[in-house]
Amino acid sequence: MDYRESTMNLGITDKLLCPCCGSQQHSVKSVITYAFYFFEYLPIFPVKRETRVQCLQCQHPANSASDRKLIFSDLSLAFFNKLRLLSTFTGSVLIIILLSYYFSDEQQKNRQSQAYIDAPKVNDFYYLDYRKVTGDKHPQNNYRIAKIVDITGGTVSLTYGNYFYPMKNALNNGLRFGHSTNFDYFEKKRQHFSYAELDKLFQQGFIYRVVRPDFNMIGRNKAVYMIDGNPVSSTTEAKKAWRYIPGKRQNTQGMAYLKANYIADRFEQAFVLLQQSAELGYAPGQTNLAELYLTGIEGSRDIENAAHWLFQAALQGYQPAIEKYRVICQLEETCEIEDFYRALNEAGTSYQIN
Ligand SMILES: [Zn+2]
Repeated sequence: MDYRESTMNLGITDKLLCPCCGSQQHSVKSVITYAFYFFEYLPIFPVKRETRVQCLQCQHPANSASDRKLIFSDLSLAFFNKLRLLSTFTGSVLIIILLSYYFSDEQQKNRQSQAYIDAPKVNDFYYLDYRKVTGDKHPQNNYRIAKIVDITGGTVSLTYGNYFYPMKNALNNGLRFGHSTNFDYFEKKRQHFSYAELDKLFQQGFIYRVVRPDFNMIGRNKAVYMIDGNPVSSTTEAKKAWRYIPGKRQNTQGMAYLKANYIADRFEQAFVLLQQSAELGYAPGQTNLAELYLTGIEGSRDIENAAHWLFQAALQGYQPAIEKYRVICQLEETCEIEDFYRALNEAGTSYQIN
């Protein structure tokens, strides 16, 4: 903290009589010593205030308490004097405004994160704070990014970024500079969490922020996920060339129904369309139908039917279905994942195990 003295003329008063020369004209100056931090002309708070009264003719000072009282019986002078004192709080007021803005912004982001935790979506970005679990042991390995790659029923699958950041700012900058657009930024291995587990990790502060990237068009036929206007995924083709695929139209319509909150029987409508799509052999339709069985139509969860349709899609080598099958298989005691791989091998399906 540094200090600076600032003097201002408040004006001339005719309320005093100079004992030396008999003049009635005295200048009134207000001198305030204020504290500042870094910015000399941005006072934070006043430390000392004095009023200097001087005869205009002979410079004789008049500084008794009664003199001052007499001078400030002039209301406008008194007002300016008060105002001036207030102005030396400018820095404090600015700091308070900035802080309250910062905290309301933080709270807003926190509320938004909680909403995303409650209703996760594929491609949500999680910002992780390892200080909460490692207890500051590796000061360079504090922060990390994870991304939702799949949601199957009540299981959310994450992949972790293979890069640690020492500070939150470094993580933000990493995203800004496009780290996560590198094809091998995220680990292949998937970690599975229930909604309740994710919520717990968020309450613990391990997940300290959730950001949902926007899907934006860039150029004529390319799209990319962005956070604050910076690409965070590799670009994908927005529209593939049109070609007739049996079951694709029903799948598109079915998924549109699922999103239409205002339609009362949207689940039933979606179910009929996805069923048609699945029976036409369209793997994404089969996978979406399975998902509908898993999340339950009016509470009727049907894992067997879900597994059946995921298996049909998996046989076609549809990787998302294979991942989802692995997720539900982990939850079912009677499911042996080796049987699943054997069946895929026998059908000559090509697939990856991460
Ligand atoms: Zn005088």
